[in-house]
Amino acid sequence: MGVKAARFHEFGGSDVLRVEEIDDPRPGPGEVSVRIRASALNHLDVDVREGISRFPVNLPHTLGIEVAGEIEEIGPGVEEWQPGDRVNPYIMATCGECAYCRTGRESLCLAPGFISFSTGGGYAEKLACSARHLVRIPDSVSYEDAAALQVAFATSWHMLFTRGKLQAGETVMINSVGSGIGSAAVQLAKLAGAFVIGNASSDEKLERARELGMDIGLNHQTEDVVARVLEITGSGVDLVYEHVGGELFQKGLDSLKKDGRLVICGGHSGEVVPFDIIPFFRTQRSIVGSFVYSQDEIEKCFALAAHGRIKPLIHKTFPLDEAKEAMELMERREHFGKILLIPGFAGNELEERGGVA
Ligand SMILES: [Zn+2]
Repeated sequence: MGVKAARFHEFGGSDVLRVEEIDDPRPGPGEVSVRIRASALNHLDVDVREGISRFPVNLPHTLGIEVAGEIEEIGPGVEEWQPGDRVNPYIMATCGECAYCRTGRESLCLAPGFISFSTGGGYAEKLACSARHLVRIPDSVSYEDAAALQVAFATSWHMLFTRGKLQAGETVMINSVGSGIGSAAVQLAKLAGAFVIGNASSDEKLERARELGMDIGLNHQTEDVVARVLEITGSGVDLVYEHVGGELFQKGLDSLKKDGRLVICGGHSGEVVPFDIIPFFRTQRSIVGSFVYSQDEIEKCFALAAHGRIKPLIHKTFPLDEAKEAMELMERREHFGKILLIPGFAGNELEERGGVA
């Protein structure tokens, strides 16, 4: 018997998504199959669907890189896991053997696989994936929270601490605090003892971020971000957390104090930007690239979630059958927090169990 998956056979808008039956994913050697209980949408999914992600995509393709579920079946050679274990697969299936993997920098792995690109995708009832890359979900963390946690919080951890070297007492500016990784960064930066300035496109998003601990909010549509940052800090911020691109990249750079760092992991609003070399080197600033995160960083975030120190934000949950509507909601960019797909439930059942926010 097959399982249900939302996938596409050609690149395009949300209309290309089809919910159909696929072959039951069975685990190969070193793999497990996971019964998916919750799956999170990411903006990357839109790029993949439109064919502009710069990732290799085989058609038909099942979207979804971020899932939480329970192990259903164990493949040959897997000893450390049991059916029924609650797991969250690390999105990268790192090789474990290259120079980067061997030196604790697995996010730079030379030959990684990725969930949905080298396995089945998360917009489905089930997928098979590598057992070596599973993270155990603590008992006190729900499947919904687990599905919403990895990309937002582990990306933030990697950017703020591993790449950005944020220290207690420093000032950080977080661009676009209304997004998943923006709101996660507010929580982690506050926990780490930083002073947090955030910006967003609306006062409503800023208000939500204040509830998460943001110290000062700037509306980048109505305020001069650079002037306000200089007014508040005197000399600029120590670290800018950038994932937007375009104008906000430049404003972030101009908001840095001398010897400040800008850490960046995305550029949806403008991937190619003008860059003034002279003030950059005269102020001895740094721009630091950041890509995904390590399995260890996911585990640290789950430990914080288990102790109630961080809270993944969930905007709305949809049944798998409504993957198209879920994607359209994400593309309107009006959400604050993650959008989830819950396989095995119809919309009215989700409402009854309180899953629809
Ligand atoms: Zn490797």
